[in-house]
Amino acid sequence: MVKAQVNQDLCISCGLCVSTCPEVFSWNGDEKAEAIKEDVPSEHEDCVQDAADGCPTDAIETQ
Ligand code: SF4
Repeated sequence: MVKAQVNQDLCISCGLCVSTCPEVFSWNGDEKAEAIKEDVPSEHEDCVQDAADGCPTDAIETQ
């Protein structure tokens, strides 16, 4: 199973991941993106990868 995390130091709050993959990424209280599901269900793996590839600061870590 894929795991996703947002590096809070790198996120610039551009919103791409939240709009690309709202099932997994959401805003936190610091107005940064966070992964609301660290263990990504298989049906959302593609959109997590799209978000990670598109993130302008490479803040999304997957493993
Ligand atoms: S795409 Fe990257 S920089 Fe933009 S909100 Fe998501 S984690 Fe933050």
